[in-house]
Amino acid sequence: MSLRGSNALVTGGGSGIGLGCARRLLRDGATVTIVGRTEERLQRAAANLAADAPDGPQVRTAVCDVTDEESVAEAVRVADAGDGLRVVVASAGIPFLGPVAQMPLDGWRSLIDINLTGVFVTLKHAVPVFRQHGGGAFTAISSVGAVVPTSYVSAYSAAKAGVDMLVRCAADELGPWGIRVNAVRPGVVATEMTVMAERDEDLVRSIERNIVLGRVGLPEDVAAAVSYLSGPEATWVTGTFLTVDGGNQLRGHNDFSSVARAFYGPDWVPSASG
Ligand code: NAD
Repeated sequence: MSLRGSNALVTGGGSGIGLGCARRLLRDGATVTIVGRTEERLQRAAANLAADAPDGPQVRTAVCDVTDEESVAEAVRVADAGDGLRVVVASAGIPFLGPVAQMPLDGWRSLIDINLTGVFVTLKHAVPVFRQHGGGAFTAISSVGAVVPTSYVSAYSAAKAGVDMLVRCAADELGPWGIRVNAVRPGVVATEMTVMAERDEDLVRSIERNIVLGRVGLPEDVAAAVSYLSGPEATWVTGTFLTVDGGNQLRGHNDFSSVARAFYGPDWVPSASG
């Protein structure tokens, strides 16, 4: 119960890694506000979390689109009420696949808006509240894609690399106020985001080849790293990245070409054999 008496906010907390983080932070004793775009999904997730730990701390919800600054500010106010916001996890994100020469500009823009600008806006509004309370821990969910160049996922990877530099700059700037800023870099984790990938045999085979520890990740694998970075054992840790990927990064990038070819055709997405 290392976070007893603290409030936490998790963006994208209605599903996948965000939901896993919310579950873990509740177990750590925090009162957790889960944030997402759909009220119904949030209510379902909150009921699920409460059923898991009926005597545990409170779960709150706030409908919020991380690209809408006012709704992020309101979600931070909801999460701060009571004991005070000390922990923020920025997990909201979307996938997007496309060859650089064919990717629609609006797809690129909306990915950057959610996956990079959304993290910035969440951090921007958490900081004054953390400062009021004498500090706080912000953890972004980045990706191994931030550091492993991978064809056809350039928008996603560029956004995550941007998140990582935002984390480093913000950690340097905000440390004097006791605000720690870190990120977790997951590899392939079984969530809604990866459902489509599971249907592509070539991609599945390449993932299986690349994961040294022999299985894809679970949201709780990532949540354990978030729990550490958010908690009292990491009070001297800032501006850093925890890779949680079963060793994927040791072996390089996964092969998205057959998924990309199915959407964009063979002209810009040739098969490995040409
Ligand atoms: P997911 O689809 O289950 O979760 C993403 C959540 O973000 C969803 O609940 C979605 O509704 C929410 N969201 C999307 N756009 C939003 C917006 N504009 N405002 C508020 N909420 C929004 O997928 P996930 O795998 O749990 O992804 C969580 C994070 O983990 C993402 O940032 C993703 O890039 C990152 N990640 C995932 C994997 C993986 O293999 N699953 C690997 C590396 C990194």
